[in-house]
Amino acid sequence: MQYEANSPPLVLAIGGHDPSGGAGIQADIESLAANRAHALTLITCLTLQDSCNVQALRPVEPDLLRGQAELLLEDSPVAAIKIGLLGSLEIAEAVAELLQAHPGIPVVLDPVLAAGGGSDLAEAALLQCIRDQLLPRCDLVTPNIPEALRLSGLDGEAAPARCAEALQASGAKAVLITGTHDPQQAAEISHRLYRPGAPELILPSSRLPGEFHGSGCTLAAAIAARLAWGEPIGLAVEKALDYTWQTLRSAFRSGRCQATPDRLYPLARFATNDDG
Ligand code: PLP
Repeated sequence: MQYEANSPPLVLAIGGHDPSGGAGIQADIESLAANRAHALTLITCLTLQDSCNVQALRPVEPDLLRGQAELLLEDSPVAAIKIGLLGSLEIAEAVAELLQAHPGIPVVLDPVLAAGGGSDLAEAALLQCIRDQLLPRCDLVTPNIPEALRLSGLDGEAAPARCAEALQASGAKAVLITGTHDPQQAAEISHRLYRPGAPELILPSSRLPGEFHGSGCTLAAAIAARLAWGEPIGLAVEKALDYTWQTLRSAFRSGRCQATPDRLYPLARFATNDDG
């Protein structure tokens, strides 16, 4: 039996569980699988939520996360790490420790600071820990505009390029600022990628109607899968943005509020029963 030839690369997804299946670890697993990577997972917190908003959040015991991280990283050659919702300062510190203990693995951080429904998911000390301890280990950080402003600590009028500069000054190698939350971008959205030694890369896309739950997780996980395959960051971002747009175009309604991206849209033909 041949294993190695067909093995997908392994991506460690670190994030919260969203029982509604729109965001969080489930989104990561689906996006990683669709981008042909195998997900190893570390749950940072459980949440109480539906498709409308997050009602409560319970971080796991940091020692449980530390122990599970050690087991996974000793057992498996992880090719990339994707980080989403952290949920508490103690968990963020545990994640920072594990990144320091395992240098050289590409890290993509989606800084989840608020739920799509509006609930705040990151207190000031957690934000500071992300800036001081996580950004210096990030190959790419993928905030939307409100997250970029909060994380950089700049005022609400600051341009994306200034936020990216501040995040790079904190140690992030590359920054992708997604344009979906920009109220001035009504029909066309510009995503902006900042890399060291390269000019700003503007990646346009058309705005889709509706609100979605888990688009940030989907995008960051797709980028991590592509980095795990060895793609350069510019190409990985471009392809992952395209994949994410397709998942949103195929989104379905699983509850009353935000729609769920169809991360497995490439399998849609099975539903039509057209193979005989
Ligand atoms: N991860 C978890 C566990 C969440 O509960 C949420 C938001 O509620 C997110 C990530 C971020 O979701 P989105 O990509 O819609 O911002």
